[in-house]
Amino acid sequence: ITEEARALLADRIHDVPDYPKPGVVFKDITPLLADPTAFATLTDVLAGAVARHGATKVVGLEARGFILAAPAAVRAGVGFVPVRKAGKLPGATLAQAYELEYGSAEIEVHAEDLTPEDRVLVIDDVLATGGTAEASVQLIRRAGARVAGVAMLLELGFLDGRAKLEPALAGAPLESL
Ligand code: AMP
Repeated sequence: ITEEARALLADRIHDVPDYPKPGVVFKDITPLLADPTAFATLTDVLAGAVARHGATKVVGLEARGFILAAPAAVRAGVGFVPVRKAGKLPGATLAQAYELEYGSAEIEVHAEDLTPEDRVLVIDDVLATGGTAEASVQLIRRAGARVAGVAMLLELGFLDGRAKLEPALAGAPLESL
């Protein structure tokens, strides 16, 4: 990614203080999505990551990960697979539970969408604690596929999600733009 592209993307991500609750700075990517040059730039960069890592599928994490991952998959010429919150997928699923700050959550994938031949790039907008990405990596492995890497638009360094995710990645790259 060029410095010019990085500056454009950064400019189109807006900080919203105290959303959805006091003390949280929400990273709002809707200005980036609404700007066709910025969205196309991001799509090109993510499609480039798909090719660079030799991925055969792209997994997007609900919900904003879908928006970033689907056009990147199309541009790179590979399939798109949604990882969804529990209870949203109609077919046979694999499920993975994980801990949140308060309580727990569960994500699912359609088992038949991933095969042992697949190398999967996981895409989402924000790496925060890393819990969601870690659970998705575990899910992909349990589906029998390999993890080619994880690509995030943003990484909140102070939450150290990278440290949480890296053991699960077992050497696969984690990139944030
Ligand atoms: P985590 O599992 O803690 O890494 O949380 C990741 C998920 O929460 C991602 O799908 C993000 O979209 C969302 N998220 C967490 N923190 C923020 C934030 N400050 N701004 C926007 N989205 C966030």
